[in-house]
Amino acid sequence: MPVLNISAIPAFQDNYIWLIRTGGTSCAVVDPGEARPVKETLEREGLQLRYILLTHHHPDHIGGAEVLQKQTGADVFGPDDARIPFQYRAVKEGDIARLDELGLEFRVLEVPGHTASHIAFTGHGCLFSGDTLFSVGCGRLFEGTPEQMQISLDKLAELPPDTRVYCGHEYTRANCLFALEVEPENQQLQEKARRVNEMRTKGEITLPGTMGEELAVNPFLRSRQEAVVLAAKKRNPKAAPGASTLAEIRHWKDSW
Ligand SMILES: [Zn+2]
Repeated sequence: MPVLNISAIPAFQDNYIWLIRTGGTSCAVVDPGEARPVKETLEREGLQLRYILLTHHHPDHIGGAEVLQKQTGADVFGPDDARIPFQYRAVKEGDIARLDELGLEFRVLEVPGHTASHIAFTGHGCLFSGDTLFSVGCGRLFEGTPEQMQISLDKLAELPPDTRVYCGHEYTRANCLFALEVEPENQQLQEKARRVNEMRTKGEITLPGTMGEELAVNPFLRSRQEAVVLAAKKRNPKAAPGASTLAEIRHWKDSW
């Protein structure tokens, strides 16, 4: 079993580009929105970029991929979407992204909602969830319906509870504040918010969390829990467990 080493390369305001290593000089990155911080890291650490994984077409996730691909010859895996304007390997549900030089392989999950073609990669106890699942939050519904997002989040929720969740942005502190509006009585959430606040005050990264913890604190994964449904009903009496509650909570967060 290769020893996985995953670290964050910060980009833009609050994006994370995930750097994957297994002890050798070969490496992979997930969602390189810009090339510069990746190139600096490769040079500093003496690494060769062999693979690039893309979760969705948004520029802050793919913006550096083409340059990095040209400069390093890395294999690029991404969702089948014409808005990704360069050559890469399009992958779909159930496909395996093989990172042979790292001895790793990741299974592809289709998780529409934030965008129509959004995918996630899972394997080796990890999930790279892009902008579908954040720590204590989920992505905005730019192209998908609440029903699609519910199905996507349900799919992710089935992963083992110790799965480490590597998402695309450091939004956890604000997400905790919102989640506490939805579920003020949730003690695990109160504790999570306290810890996250401490970490951010020290400038520390709050990721990855685990799927098990997310299931206990993330309102978007809890759209069938009574407290969350009741909070949604206060805003829209028609909210029912599942997608309509998720829709109401998402709508609430959009204007929060
Ligand atoms: Zn996005």
